[in-house]
Amino acid sequence: MGMDFTQAKQRIEQLKAVLWENSRKYYVENAPTMSDYEYDQLMHELEDLEREYPEYATADSPTRRVGSDLESGFAKYPHQYPMLSLGNTYSIGEVEEFAERASKSLEIPFTYCCELKFDGTAICLTYRNGKLFRALTRGDGVVGDDVTANARRIANVPEKLQGEGWPAEFEIRGEVLMPYESFDRLNREREANEDQPFANPRNAASGSLKLQDPEEVAKRGLMCTLYHIPTGQVDYPTHDEALKAAQQWGLPVSDKRRLCKDIDEIEAYIAYWDTARKELPYPTDGIVIKINEMDAQRQLGFTAKSPRWAVAYKFKAEQALTPILSIDYQVGRTGAVTPVANLEPVFLSGTMVKRATLVNEDQMAMLDICEGDWVYVEKGGEIIPKITGVEESKRVPGAKRPPFPKVCPDCGTPLVKSEGEAKWFCPNNDGCPTQIKGKLVHFVSRKAMNVLAGDATVDQLYNLDLVHTPADFYDLRESQLLMLEGWKERSAQRFLDSLRESRNVPFERVLFAIGIRYVGETTARDIARHFGDIDTLAQATKEELIAVPDVGEVVAESLYRYFRDERHLIEIQRLKAAGLQMSVQRQGENVSDALAGKTIVISGNFSVSRDEIKALIEANGGKNSGSVSGKTSFLLAGSKPGPEKIKKAESLGVQILDEEAFRKLLPEGSLPEMPQNDDTELTLF
Ligand code: NAD
Repeated sequence: MGMDFTQAKQRIEQLKAVLWENSRKYYVENAPTMSDYEYDQLMHELEDLEREYPEYATADSPTRRVGSDLESGFAKYPHQYPMLSLGNTYSIGEVEEFAERASKSLEIPFTYCCELKFDGTAICLTYRNGKLFRALTRGDGVVGDDVTANARRIANVPEKLQGEGWPAEFEIRGEVLMPYESFDRLNREREANEDQPFANPRNAASGSLKLQDPEEVAKRGLMCTLYHIPTGQVDYPTHDEALKAAQQWGLPVSDKRRLCKDIDEIEAYIAYWDTARKELPYPTDGIVIKINEMDAQRQLGFTAKSPRWAVAYKFKAEQALTPILSIDYQVGRTGAVTPVANLEPVFLSGTMVKRATLVNEDQMAMLDICEGDWVYVEKGGEIIPKITGVEESKRVPGAKRPPFPKVCPDCGTPLVKSEGEAKWFCPNNDGCPTQIKGKLVHFVSRKAMNVLAGDATVDQLYNLDLVHTPADFYDLRESQLLMLEGWKERSAQRFLDSLRESRNVPFERVLFAIGIRYVGETTARDIARHFGDIDTLAQATKEELIAVPDVGEVVAESLYRYFRDERHLIEIQRLKAAGLQMSVQRQGENVSDALAGKTIVISGNFSVSRDEIKALIEANGGKNSGSVSGKTSFLLAGSKPGPEKIKKAESLGVQILDEEAFRKLLPEGSLPEMPQNDDTELTLF
């Protein structure tokens, strides 16, 4: 579309950075911030660009590698055969093209096996001599995380096979799912415990499969459905027969699959399940169409990322139709201006929607949005609803296209749009009040410095001219805080305490908190670990920055530019002087010996993740152990601890501590303050 080489290269880099970052949010953090549809559209845009400009297509592109779910804390084992993704489409036309391509390239007769596309997380089970030997996640497609202990706690995963005829050893793949009923129960519990609820059953399923405590997994009510035995593992002429055999061996195989002989039958299957899936007790997000004959599968083979003998047709999210009342132009903390439509409230997928994003100017033009238009709104997971189309038949004659602002709606600075960017930006990064406040709010947020302050406090501090940059927080005195509306000595003290505690926040979170463009939580962690300290990072050349895995040119450029701005260097010096962590705590370098010689078992949920608790135990000289025994020093029990562990600890006379008691053993500030709720139940036994 009229792009020159430089623009294409830049857009490719940008898409790669955005897709990798979102892939990590999706697979590792289980907390995506983009809808699947949006992600898939960006992926298709990247595929098209790489096809058009093959000189910029690299082997590390997300178009060629499956998104990785690998996490530290799990043993890793290779898959016998790569575990790939599936080519996907939202258009029936492309399913027709898939069928046509197969007919053209296959010289042998073939049929299709249509299946539901289960919306969970992929699993690979290995059975050895009829017994469950190992369960791996997809990982990066080549090696997976070992989740065997957890898979054993999924009710319908058999420990032993039945019948006969199974090979001495084989892999069978499928999906771990969370049925809606389990999902609702889990989220009710999490809300009661003030834990962040899961956005959707997929995230809940993959988060649950990666828990460190199999007893907790057992309570999550997961289920498994198996749908693929790699060719070469069993000797059946068709995929369907292999699955039938697996079913006879007692493995959970869905009975919803159908053999189809042509595209009409495939389309009928899709049309049926498009509606009928709403009655299923578990989530599905599409249909998978596979060539049924193993010989034909072998002939078609694989691309780097997916089999050529299968395609996924994905269902689009639910839609609602409602009129636009007005449009706001919101300035984010990086200066990006996002048009947001205020809508006549409408009910969609269980919630009332009042606002929806219009993304950017190009999207508004593409949708041809006019004032007062009736629009289609979609929602995916927790994602902000998005406007996806206009109902032109309801347009008021003569309705005008709203003009996109030329200046920042907040500070009046003319907006700019750089090459390859889709958004307009307010370039007044250090002077635009909304951006400054946005950056301050980000800095204090829970995932960043975890300081006890929200939007309202930041607003007041800014309006009173007390805080303009994060370093200003650390110069605040009690007398100044008492100027804030409604603040008393106690609140001021609590705030100052939390600031003091933020000095223990690890370097990777400080780097995230500073708010460098494109540097999200995971990128900050990778960069912090790679360079070790802020001075080395600040001096890094672009080449050195690009050398960090998963850091592309866009991220490198942003980091490089950040550290070439004198104002930022001064800010970093001030934060350093305030005592913030500016280097990585090396492994083995203990924070304290507070838990030296103690063997600790943890169970239940805490105010921070279980991984953080475990790391803290080790950093303070303690040892983690998975099961309670006579050697256990104490059982650290969060909310909802495993009843078996409690029983065992009680029977062995092992001390049981709750989080509050545990905190007292650690140096002050090791953990962020407990969520502010005096009713929080801490002692559950
Ligand atoms: P996918 O989910 O589109 O399809 C492949 C997967 O489908 C397989 O790995 C398997 O787990 C599953 N599957 C379910 N039923 C199946 C069946 N009957 N037969 C075979 N496989 C079946 O691909 P993916 O590689 O797992 O994930 C990529 C998708 O994830 C993207 O297309 C996007 O929709 C989503 N994603 C979203 C974000 C985001 O930010 N929203 C980020 C990364 C990925």
